[in-house]
Amino acid sequence: MDSLPALGFTPAVGDLPFTAQQRSLLALAHELGRTKFAPRAAQWDREAAFPMANYEDLRTAGLLALCVPKDHGGLGADYATYMLVAAELGRFCGATALTYNMHICSTMWTGVLADGIAMTDAQRAEHAHRRELHFRRVVQDGAIYAQPFSEGSAAAAGRAPFGTTARKVDGGWVVNGRKIFASLSGAADYYGVLCTEDKGDEKPDARDTLYLAVPATSEGFTIGGEWDPLGMRGTVSRNLGFKEVFVSDDEQLMPRGIYFRGAQTWPAMFFTLAPTYLGIANAAYDFTVSYLRGEVPGEPPVKRRMYPTKQVAVAQMRIQLESMKSLFTRAILEAGPNPSKDARMRLYAAQYSVMEGANDIARLAIRTCGGQSMMKHLPLERLYRDSRCGSLMLPWTAELVLDRMGRETLYEPGERDE
Ligand SMILES: Cc1cc2nc3c(=O)[nH]c(=O)nc-3n(C[C@H](O)[C@H](O)[C@H](O)COP(=O)(O)OP(=O)(O)OC[C@H]3O[C@@H](n4cnc5c(N)ncnc54)[C@H](O)[C@@H]3O)c2cc1C
Repeated sequence: MDSLPALGFTPAVGDLPFTAQQRSLLALAHELGRTKFAPRAAQWDREAAFPMANYEDLRTAGLLALCVPKDHGGLGADYATYMLVAAELGRFCGATALTYNMHICSTMWTGVLADGIAMTDAQRAEHAHRRELHFRRVVQDGAIYAQPFSEGSAAAAGRAPFGTTARKVDGGWVVNGRKIFASLSGAADYYGVLCTEDKGDEKPDARDTLYLAVPATSEGFTIGGEWDPLGMRGTVSRNLGFKEVFVSDDEQLMPRGIYFRGAQTWPAMFFTLAPTYLGIANAAYDFTVSYLRGEVPGEPPVKRRMYPTKQVAVAQMRIQLESMKSLFTRAILEAGPNPSKDARMRLYAAQYSVMEGANDIARLAIRTCGGQSMMKHLPLERLYRDSRCGSLMLPWTAELVLDRMGRETLYEPGERDE
């Protein structure tokens, strides 16, 4: 046990033996979320507008550089610390937490994750040189990075090469293609695009995946399409077009071939969308408790807690939430390169439990609190809609997680049926 002062609130991930840095970051995220992000959340949802004011606050608080290593001027948070902070933000504004994930991953994948991926000395030196530029943009200029991978094909599920291509030319790359569901579209300064190296007439190969930062101001880069979805409306995830877009060699976020190796080495890199939804599950649970106790600010102080069915429902919600938190914390504490088969299974189980569980809890919350609770001036109906989106996120949608778990349980690597 450490002797640090109590936080004064239970974090979305539960009460754990946090480090001093984790404790202060959690306190910061909680305070920003409670005082700034929660009061603004309805506005982004109503207008399907990006939470720019929240990003100003994240920038001022130094949180855009959360995972930039300390020797590059960032806060140097590791994987687990990011996941704790993200869950706390998700509790107050899902769209902010989800888009923050896209931004943070651009620094975490190139930072702490890349450090755990095998590279030659030449690749390591190239990466050290190039990431310096990206980290400086985030630390000094407060730049925001997006992470558009999805294309509407099997590529984002990891089952085919990306259709967006990059052709090597003198001093850089020429990018052509299209992305869908690009969160932070119109808000980001750089778009971290996954694309396949175009090697002329050879067959495209996923091992030739490149991870390039396309500046928002690039010629030939366009944003289009409607954005009027069910939930997570503040993510503004529109389509991107790339027509002969030139980017310099320095925009390479990882050396050639390293993204593909990273995805195989560090499966937990795909678990980083889950904390947003653990936060949303906490918010739905917290709301239900306050509502049944007659303590929601601005609402009549009518208590509904005396009905046994409501008590049972709250107990069910708490049981599911506790099991989600346990799986989640185990998964983030053991996350690292080359996990054992058991650790990988736990990771899938954690992803599935959180993504499906958040919506289960929001659904129970609405049933339990009743009709008045789902009015638009209260957060529950937004939490319900936002929570539905978690298990749609590739590459680990709920369906694909079941698919992977079943196959990887029953087949060892290389095994086939005759
Ligand atoms: C709010 C929100 C924000 C998003 N932000 C981003 C972002 O910033 N960047 C980004 O890259 N993407 C983003 N996405 C996209 C997301 O990751 C998915 O790519 C998208 O939801 C897939 O939708 P789709 O209809 O194209 O899926 P499809 O590819 O048509 O798949 C439909 C379903 O079929 C299943 N499926 C797909 N492939 C297979 C397969 N090979 N085998 C078995 N089952 C399969 C999956 O369960 C999938 O959910 C976002 C999505 C949402 C909802």
